[in-house]
Amino acid sequence: MNCWTNWMTINRRSSGSMLRFLILAIVVYIFYRALKKWMIGGGTDVDQHRSSGSAVDDVLIQDPVCQTYFARRDGVHLRHEGRDLYFCSQKCRERYLQGDNPPDDQIGSD
Ligand SMILES: [Zn+2]
Repeated sequence: MNCWTNWMTINRRSSGSMLRFLILAIVVYIFYRALKKWMIGGGTDVDQHRSSGSAVDDVLIQDPVCQTYFARRDGVHLRHEGRDLYFCSQKCRERYLQGDNPPDDQIGSD
């Protein structure tokens, strides 16, 4: 079979392993840079979060699907029919989108 012989020839080319080594070196370099950036940027990230974390983000809201209360900043956001909705988890968000939610007049009528 010609096909088999061709495959063997390609597989045995030394340029292939050289290229693989080059790619590996690049991947290691990128990984090293990302790690360094993450280690340096870690502190600033916390500060940013603290300064931007206003009181509004800490407000407790109720999940329209499972009626659980949670901090809005921990919630899963959904923009639905012009309204901003927040859910305790992706699961509840999906359940809401599937129509498994209480009637509209029960939401925000407190
Ligand atoms: Zn929920």
